Amino acid sequence: VVTPGVDAATARRIAGAVTDPELPMITLAELGILRDVRVEPGGAVVVTLAPTYLGCPALQAMSQAVQAVLEEAGAGRVTVRTVLKPRWSTDDISAEGREKLAAAGVAPPGPAAGPVSVSLEVPCPRCAGRQTEELARFGPTPCTALRRCPRCGEPFQAVKPL
Ligand SMILES: [Zn+2]
Repeated sequence: VVTPGVDAATARRIAGAVTDPELPMITLAELGILRDVRVEPGGAVVVTLAPTYLGCPALQAMSQAVQAVLEEAGAGRVTVRTVLKPRWSTDDISAEGREKLAAAGVAPPGPAAGPVSVSLEVPCPRCAGRQTEELARFGPTPCTALRRCPRCGEPFQAVKPL
C-alpha cells in the first residue's frame, strides 16, 4: 500500500505560496508567518503559523486556505496550528515581500523596533516622496493605514510596523 501524501519540502512550498487575503500580492512565506511544516509518519501534515496582528480576521481564512491547498495536493490529514511565540513582527516580511508590496502601491513597513521618527516616515510607494501624511490610522484592513502623498497627490495603503 502506497500512502498518499506529500513530502515536507513540497508541503512547505505549497503552504508558503498561499497568499494573504488582505494583502493578496504577498505570500505567507514572504510575510514570514509560516513557522513550520511537518509531515508525520502516517502522512498527516502539521502546519504552524504565527498570527500577524492580534485578532487579525485573515488568520482563519489563511488557515483554511492552507488546509485546502494541501488536501488538494494529496496530503493526509492537515492540521494548522498557530503559535504566539516568538511573536511575529513586520520585520519578518522578506525583501521579496517588501518589493511586491511596493510594486502594488502598498508602502512596506518601516523597522518595527526603530526610532519613532524612522517608523513614522513612510515614503510614497509611487514617487518615493518622503513627506507623506496619515489620513486614517486604519485603512481597508486593520494592518494598514491610509496615507496620502502631497507630492504626487495619491492616497496609498501602508503596512503598519509591528
Ligand atoms: Zn507620491
